[in-house]
Amino acid sequence: MNKVVYMFNEGNGTKELLGGKGANLVEMTRIGLPVPYGFTISTEACNSYFKAGNCIPREMEFQVLESLKKLEEETGKRFGDPSNPLLVSVRSGAVHSMPGMMDTILNLGMNDETVEGLATLTKNPRFAYDSYRRFIQMFSDVVLKVDVFYFEQFLEEYRTERGYSSDPELLAEDWQKVIIGYKKIVKKHTKRTFPEDPKEQLFLSISAVFDSWNNQRAIVYRRLNKISDHLGTAVNIQSMVFGNMGNDSGTGVGFTRDPSTGEPKLYGEYLINAQGEDVVAGIRTPQPISSLQEEMPEVFQQFVNTCRLLEEHFRDMQDIEFTVERGQLFILQTRVGKRTAQAAIRIAVDLVNEQIISKKEALLRIDPDQLNQLLHRRIDDTFVRKPLTKGLPASPGAATGQVVFDSSEAERLSKDGKKVILVRPETTPEDINGIVASQATITSRGGMTSHAAVVARGMGKACICGCESLNIDLKLKQFKVGDVIVKQGDVITIDGSTGEVILGEVPMIDPELSNEFKLLLTWADGHRKLRVRANADSREDSIIALEFGAEGIGLCRTEHMFMDEDRIPIVQDMILAETIEEREEALSKLLPMQQGDFEHIFEVMDGNPVTIRLLDPPLHEFLPDKEELIIEFTKLQMLKSNFQELNKKKELLRKVSHLDEFNPMLGLRGCRLGMIYPEIYIMQVKAIFYAIANVLEKGIEVKPEIMIPLVGHVNELKEMRQLVITAGEQIFEETGHNCNYLIGTMIEVPRAALTADNIAKEADFFSFGTNDLTQTTFGYSRDDAEGKFLQTYIDNKVLPENPFVSLDQEAVGKLVETGLKLGKDTKRGLKTGICGEHGGEKQSIQFCHDIGLDYVSCSPYRVPLARLAAAQANIKSEQKQCIDKLQTHI
Ligand code: ADP
Ligand code: MG
Ligand code: MG
Repeated sequence: MNKVVYMFNEGNGTKELLGGKGANLVEMTRIGLPVPYGFTISTEACNSYFKAGNCIPREMEFQVLESLKKLEEETGKRFGDPSNPLLVSVRSGAVHSMPGMMDTILNLGMNDETVEGLATLTKNPRFAYDSYRRFIQMFSDVVLKVDVFYFEQFLEEYRTERGYSSDPELLAEDWQKVIIGYKKIVKKHTKRTFPEDPKEQLFLSISAVFDSWNNQRAIVYRRLNKISDHLGTAVNIQSMVFGNMGNDSGTGVGFTRDPSTGEPKLYGEYLINAQGEDVVAGIRTPQPISSLQEEMPEVFQQFVNTCRLLEEHFRDMQDIEFTVERGQLFILQTRVGKRTAQAAIRIAVDLVNEQIISKKEALLRIDPDQLNQLLHRRIDDTFVRKPLTKGLPASPGAATGQVVFDSSEAERLSKDGKKVILVRPETTPEDINGIVASQATITSRGGMTSHAAVVARGMGKACICGCESLNIDLKLKQFKVGDVIVKQGDVITIDGSTGEVILGEVPMIDPELSNEFKLLLTWADGHRKLRVRANADSREDSIIALEFGAEGIGLCRTEHMFMDEDRIPIVQDMILAETIEEREEALSKLLPMQQGDFEHIFEVMDGNPVTIRLLDPPLHEFLPDKEELIIEFTKLQMLKSNFQELNKKKELLRKVSHLDEFNPMLGLRGCRLGMIYPEIYIMQVKAIFYAIANVLEKGIEVKPEIMIPLVGHVNELKEMRQLVITAGEQIFEETGHNCNYLIGTMIEVPRAALTADNIAKEADFFSFGTNDLTQTTFGYSRDDAEGKFLQTYIDNKVLPENPFVSLDQEAVGKLVETGLKLGKDTKRGLKTGICGEHGGEKQSIQFCHDIGLDYVSCSPYRVPLARLAAAQANIKSEQKQCIDKLQTHI
């Protein structure tokens, strides 16, 4: 067998071998910090233990005993020696920190003899018995599997009987009695006496710590954090130091910076006369670290110096465990501290300013996904929550408002200045106005990618989906959770980051785009090649997009401009028109409305490129629901009165049925609309060009890019391109203004990607519409897939991830790459980008960078994330190139 046991002063082991805790103990020993001496049994040993059928091989046992001897020599104490006993802790320590997930045993080596020795030696019997009872409890829990509950219950009863209110009040005699009680508990539950032989204790504990790698909470933690099950844990055997020796002793935890705000000041807690986990266990309320300054000024100063040293050494904020034994400081652990997004940014920026890390390192340290936390209003951290119920955390942020149950009601109330929260069993595209008007949306059905969730995330609004315990009664306008009834108009608060629903109003804090955050993003801008644009189709969204640093609009969806309450009747007239004249009349009313929208957007974007997509969805999306119409019609029919109304409904129903499609996603939509009803596209193009002319008139620069959706054959684009040019040039002539403009297409069906060389002949730019491209590549309709089988596929690992969230590089990505290559073969200067939700997802952004697209476009609220992710992609690929170069030299 290889060497599997290492003393703390033996060289510099890696985390993979010694685990995070072990490697850092070695490192701290090396730089001369006061670390109690000990040794580490490696992760390799753990795996041999599992291979041997959860059994410690002879050779490993031998190496452990050898190291134990060295520890005895170094400390001058002997294991099991009553005159001067060595006591140790047996601590788990995996490669990745898994705080509190596995087990640790303290004070090992205690028995009926050594406890007496310790009492005499320290002249502190109370301390000796206190340590012994702690050991019995921990050992019994971890090794003998006796539930701690029995010990706690016993101690609780003992305290009440004698009238003690807390543990420090117990005297030596009390602990002696508790020990007798504890041993009886062990006997009763294990049918054996408590093992008194220290070596037996040691090897049983080592096995138990190895075994704790596979306890339930460790397994769950690994799954959540994507940590491999095969790594195993190391075990650290370390001589004990005691924080429970009296009022000149204590134990605590400190962070070198505030982990929730990132402020560069010590943060932490400690307890006087306590051991190990007492601080986190919540039995006694710990004191803030600042008061250590008064209680033990020298120790405090030493701790402050150690913190600075450790931070500089490990070059990041540290989370440190310490113990003070009779006025002497010992460091027991250090690791990179977990932190909020806000703190992560502040710390990264500060570390750069303090010249501890480089800007590149700072950029790589922030997880782009974490940024979402910062761009939404959220519940004040100090508020104690009592949630009514919980659903899926579909879109982060918090909101308070009156409950409403339908979209038009939501709109009406919000126009009156009321804040509302829309509660629906589920939402459909028609609820878009309701979602816009509301502070937040809750649905009782649907998942993280349901309509409500996607829309809400796109708008940066809070949303909870699949809140199944909500019993919604749309007729009574109320919902029930258990026997709590919430009626329309009642106020609730939701937290979209946790999925919690809370009754009433709670204190909130605004999103912070702190100065550090802005600074970090400007660093990101200096390190990225990808440009970042936003998807926006209104003045308001464009303003937000610019504020967050978008360099243009990558997708302006004109259909959103049709959804407005005042416009939808005109849109319906346009669709239902019998003759071309009727249709043109409706279109002429829509034209100035759209023109106004475009003007606003151009003005805000002030010379940045704006990609406008002509109408894309099937027309029936603007019409009333067919099933509802049938019901209304039947009702009217039964009434046999209002015949005029009946005839109108009949006519409407006929037309709606006429437009009804078997599969709207693959039906009459995209450029097919423009091919069949050119007058609609012509109206849109005119609106764009009139808007251009007006904006130019005001002296504002414009960079319009007109985009034709869903092209599958070059001939479609050829015809639509001609349509745009004809209408556009006519208006330039009419208005006397003109400017450069681009005409391009979305590449969003496989045929387009595969014939991109031909299509590029008619296109000035490609925008890869990866939402539709995913649908058409997989042959999934998104709504059906997400509603019916996609989750099962992901759960059963048929698919690694939801391809609508993270781009499927294997196939969809291959099509994008193919389309890009073919397109550039035809036209070197072709502009290329992606729009759609993937443009705001870090892995997909990395992919876009790697294949060499010019830009990504995402919702305005994801622009900061995309800026950071684009910088990370570039830095990582530079680093990779560097390594590759080095390797070819070797
Ligand atoms: P975890 O990984 O769950 O934090 P640890 O192995 O760090 O578990 O130990 C639990 C507690 O016991 C910590 O508070 C630690 O500081 C304390 N502890 C561990 N070893 C010793 C020791 N040799 N002397 C004193 N306290 C110790
Ligand atoms: Mg610890
Ligand atoms: Mg599309």
